[in-house]
Amino acid sequence: MTRPSAERTRVRDRLLDGTRFLVASHARPDGDSLGSQLALAEALTQLGKEVRVVNADPPPARYAFLPGAAAIEVAGSVEDDADTAVVLECGTLGRTEVSGLAGRPVVNIDHHAGNTGYGAVNWCDESACACGELVFELIEALGAELTPSIATNVYVAILTDTGSFRHANITARTFDICRRIAGTGVDAAAVAARVFNNGSLGRLRLTGRVIDRMRLEADGRIAVLAVDEAMLRETGCEADDLEGVVNLPLAAGDVKAVILLKALGGGLRVSLRSKDEIDVRRVAVSFGGGGHRNAAGLTVEDPASDVRARLVRQVAAAIAESRPA
Ligand code: 5GP
Ligand code: MN
Repeated sequence: MTRPSAERTRVRDRLLDGTRFLVASHARPDGDSLGSQLALAEALTQLGKEVRVVNADPPPARYAFLPGAAAIEVAGSVEDDADTAVVLECGTLGRTEVSGLAGRPVVNIDHHAGNTGYGAVNWCDESACACGELVFELIEALGAELTPSIATNVYVAILTDTGSFRHANITARTFDICRRIAGTGVDAAAVAARVFNNGSLGRLRLTGRVIDRMRLEADGRIAVLAVDEAMLRETGCEADDLEGVVNLPLAAGDVKAVILLKALGGGLRVSLRSKDEIDVRRVAVSFGGGGHRNAAGLTVEDPASDVRARLVRQVAAAIAESRPA
C-alpha cells in the first residue's frame, strides 16, 4: 500500500548516506512523536548508524514501556558533530524546543498541514494519520527489518494519533501497516492496555473534576474546559495526566468543538478539538499555534482577560463556516 513518493526516496537516500544521527521531535512528547522516533532510531541502528534520540521533555510515564524509551536523552540544546538531524512530527523546527539541531542538515518528516519546509530535505504528507505511518514506509524503503519492537513503536504512534482509530485520515494504508505490525506478533490489546488502562486514580479524579466544571457556549455546540495548578495539586496529577481529556466532550452528539484552557504557569496552553469539517487549526494558527483540522493547539504567553471570549468567537465562526449555507 505504499505510494510512490519522490520525497520519501530523497529522505531514504539522505539517511543511507549519513553515519551519525540526532533524532528529535516536539516538546511535551506524545505517542506519535515517541513511537516515530524510537522506531526510526532502531531501524537506523540496524543499518549500522550511530543514533541519539533527543527531546526537550521526558516521555510521559504511560510511554515508558516503549522499546528504547529508556535511552531517550532529555536536553534543551545539542552540541554534537552528528552529520544529520532527523526531526519528526514538527511543523516548525522551533516545536522541538531543542536548540542546535540546525548545525547540520535537517531531515524533516511530518504530517501537519502548514509545515514550513525547514529541512534540507522535507517529506510532509498531510494524508498520513500519524507520523508513524510515514516512518513505517521509510523503514521499509531503507530495507531495515520490521522487528516486534519497531512494530510496537509504530503501533503506539498510530493508535494514539488516530484516537484509537476514530480520527480523520485513517485509510487502507493505515490498516495494511497494522496488519503487518500484528504479523510480527505484537499484541494490540496488550499495547492499548499499557497506554490507556494504566493511569493513576488521581488522573481519573482529575478527569471527573474537569468534566464536572465544563461550560457550554454557542448554544451547547462548544464545550470549554479549564484546568489550573490547584486542580492538579488536589488530585496529585501532572500536566501529562490531561492527555485525552480534551476529547471527552466530543462524546456528546451536540458538542461540535472543545476548547481546553490550561493555566499551568508560563502562559496559557490551549488545546482545540472539533468534529468533521470544522477547522480549528485555522483558529490555532491565528493565535500563533498549529496542528490539524480536528486537533490543534496554541500557547498564549500573556493571556489577556478576553482570550477565552476570542477563542469561543473564533471557534463558533469555524463551526458556522463548516455548515453548507
Ligand atoms: P494538543 O492539543 O494535543 O497539545 O495538540 C494537538 C495538535 O496540535 C498536535 O498535532 C500538535 O502537534 C499541535 N499543536 C499543539 N500545540 C501547538 C503549538 O503551540 N504550535 C503548533 N504549531 N502546533 C501545536
Ligand atoms: Mn502526529
